[in-house]
Amino acid sequence: DTLINQIAAGEVVERPASVVKELVENAVDAGADRIDIDLEEGGVRLIRVRDNGSGIAPDELPLAVSRHATSKIGSLDDLETVATMGFRGEALPSIASVSRFVLASRRGDDGHGSALPVEGGRVGAVEPRQHPPGTTVEVRDLFYNVPARRKFLRAERTELGHIEEWLRSLALARPDVELRISHNGKPTRRYKGGTELFSDDRLHETLGPEFAKHALRVDHAAAGLRLHGWIAQPAYSRASADQQYLYVNRRPVRDRSVAHAVRQAFGDVMYHGRQPAYVLFLDLDPARVDVNVHPAKHEVRFRDTRLVHDFVYRTLHEALADTRA
Ligand code: ADP
Ligand code: MG
Repeated sequence: DTLINQIAAGEVVERPASVVKELVENAVDAGADRIDIDLEEGGVRLIRVRDNGSGIAPDELPLAVSRHATSKIGSLDDLETVATMGFRGEALPSIASVSRFVLASRRGDDGHGSALPVEGGRVGAVEPRQHPPGTTVEVRDLFYNVPARRKFLRAERTELGHIEEWLRSLALARPDVELRISHNGKPTRRYKGGTELFSDDRLHETLGPEFAKHALRVDHAAAGLRLHGWIAQPAYSRASADQQYLYVNRRPVRDRSVAHAVRQAFGDVMYHGRQPAYVLFLDLDPARVDVNVHPAKHEVRFRDTRLVHDFVYRTLHEALADTRA
């Protein structure tokens, strides 16, 4: 089973940032509104994610680290409407198979917490542990038992950069959640929670005042589709490919067809070859989009790609019309 989990880890866990993604998504799914992320050496030495979410019962800890045991969907039909970030039940077992791992948790109603250590996939015994309500996952020495994977890890700065980039994209989508990040014992970033989705505060915190100054608000709905968020006016000169954020039902994704529609709309008003900058949330009935295309869920498949493409193009074309010189 350890081997199967390690093979699955090949798809889910590429680098420390993928671990942070899976753990923080779990914390969000658990309803946390405060998440602490402590890192050492770019996350290679340590990733610790602590949340104030629902917590896990002691007897369910072993289930959480066993393969395909998700508490989030009960049947294949539920996949049609899945609203949580996770649903495949393979992140924790995969991560635990390639690290020194501890899952510690306490539900609000329970008198005490408990912890379950897993070492390179070998599941230990549940033991009592002091813990505030919520969950902590500790991942040490990522890939210590898979030298072939460890070789592909990059410099501390690079790995940290990937982690910060992913956290920024989450921060944009979840301004209701407070995120505190520390690296090698020093606080590096804090996103204040408790703000609404369209808050300019969060835009400032994540993409900086220059982007915020040039940001044009978009909010348009038609045919069961809604596109909202911000696009940077063509006058914004610091636009780059890493300021392109697309979310489908709040899940950060990459999508060729939407990216194409955006580029086409910007192409109408600015020189081709220049990068547009945007933060866009596309919302639609979950039944009209398949999120189970890739284990890491970076991609989606729309039931009607053409319709989505044209909707995005037209919405942005309109929004940008006033900026035409
Ligand atoms: P998935 O998120 O796809 O369900 P995971 O392997 O990421 O699968 O997690 C397995 C299970 O462990 C989840 O379904 C959930 O029940 C539980 N779990 C994981 N992390 C947390 C957390 N931070 N708080 C509460 N429950 C959690
Ligand atoms: Mg998960």
